[in-house]
Amino acid sequence: MKVIIIRYSEIHLKGNNRDFFESILISNIKHVLSDYDYQFGRSNARYVIRNFDENYTEQILDAVKNVFGVYSVSPAEEVPSTYEDISSAALSMAPVYGTFKVNTNRADKRFPIPSMKLSADIGGKILEQNPTLKVDLFHPDTVVSIDIRENGKTFVYSEVIKGVNGMPVGTAGKGIIMLSGGIDSPVAMYMMAKRGMTLRSVHFHSFPYTSMQAKQKVLDLAKIVKKYTLHMTVDVVSFTEIQTAIHEKCPEEYMITIMRRFMMRIAEKLAQKHGAGAVITGESLGQVASQTLESITSTNSVATLPVFRPLIGFDKDEIIEIAQKIGTFETSILPYEDCCTIFLPKKPVTKPRLSAVLKVESALDVETLVNNALQNIEVVEI
Ligand code: ATP
Ligand code: MG
Repeated sequence: MKVIIIRYSEIHLKGNNRDFFESILISNIKHVLSDYDYQFGRSNARYVIRNFDENYTEQILDAVKNVFGVYSVSPAEEVPSTYEDISSAALSMAPVYGTFKVNTNRADKRFPIPSMKLSADIGGKILEQNPTLKVDLFHPDTVVSIDIRENGKTFVYSEVIKGVNGMPVGTAGKGIIMLSGGIDSPVAMYMMAKRGMTLRSVHFHSFPYTSMQAKQKVLDLAKIVKKYTLHMTVDVVSFTEIQTAIHEKCPEEYMITIMRRFMMRIAEKLAQKHGAGAVITGESLGQVASQTLESITSTNSVATLPVFRPLIGFDKDEIIEIAQKIGTFETSILPYEDCCTIFLPKKPVTKPRLSAVLKVESALDVETLVNNALQNIEVVEI
C-alpha cells in the first residue's frame, strides 16, 4: 500500500511541551489536508498518511512539507514483513541511474534476516535488475530504505523530501504583521510563522491616492503566505486622513517618520484588540532612510509591545531569495503604488532626532486621528 511518512523536527518536541507541540502540529497537518480523504496514523516518532487517492500524492506531499514543524516527508510502500514483499517493493523503488545503497532498520527482531545481510542481498538484486547502477556506501545519490516495524509491516522508500522545519504555527503566541505590497514584509511574515507565531496582518492604504489594485496586490500576497501561516485576516486601514493631516501640518522631510509612528500606534491598538503580543515589520537596518537606527528609534518609541524585525540583519539579495522560494516575489514587484510613495518628500530626514520629531508631531491631534483610523477598518478574511 502506498503511504506517506511524515517526520517532524524532534528538537522542538522534547520535554513537557511535547503533547502541546504535537497536538498543534497534527492539527496543522490535518488543516492543510482538509480537501483530501485519507487516514492519519502514527508509527513511533513519525506520522503516516494512508488510504489516500494516489492521484493526489504530489499535492499531499507538497502541502505537508510546507507545514512548519515538518522535517521531511517520504512517499513509501507499506508491505507485510516478508522477504518477497520487501524485495519487490525495494526493486520498484530503485533509482534508474547514479549510485545507491540499501539501508535496513530491523526494529522487529523476529524478522529472520539480519539488517546487513538483507541490505546486501537486496542491493544485489537491484544491481541485477539494472547493471548500470553503482553501489556507494558513503555518498550514495539514493538510499533505498527498508524499515521493518514491530507490527509485522515494513516501510520501503527511496525519496526523502525536505520539509520547511521551524515550529508549528500556533505554538509561539500571536503577532500583528504590518504588511505592505513590497518584497520585505511578506518575507517577515513567513519568518515569524516559521517560529510558530499565529499572524494577523494590518495594511494601510490611502484610497483614492492609492488604487484598488494596490490593495488587491497586498491581499494576493497575504493569500500566498497563508500557505504557511494557515490562517490569515487582513485589517485594511484607511490612512488617507492621517497622511493628509501630516502633509498639511508637518515639514515634508518628516512625512515618513511621522507616518511610521502612526502606523505603529494603530498596529499596536489592533494587536491589543486581537490579543496579539507583538508587532512585526519587514524593516532591514539601513535599507532606506526610514530604516536607520535613528528612524527605527523614532518609530519604536511609540510602541509598548515588543516589535519584531526578523529581516533586520538581512541583505536585500537574501530577502529576495526567500521571497522567490515562498512565491511572493513576482507579486511583490508588480508596479502598484504604496501609501508611502505619495506625498513623498524629495529629501527625507535620515537621522531624525526624537525631540525634533515630537515637536513636529505636536501640530497634530494624534489621538483623534488614530481613533478615526481605527473606526474605519475593512476586515478581509483570506
Ligand atoms: P516592504 O518591502 O515590506 O514594503 P520596504 O523595503 O518597502 O519594505 P518600507 O516601505 O520602509 O520598506 O517599510 C518598512 C516596513 O513598514 C514594511 O516592511 C512594513 O512592515 C511596514 N509598512 C510599510 N508600508 C506599509 C503599509 N502601507 N501598510 C502596512 N505596513 C507597511
Ligand atoms: Mg514598502
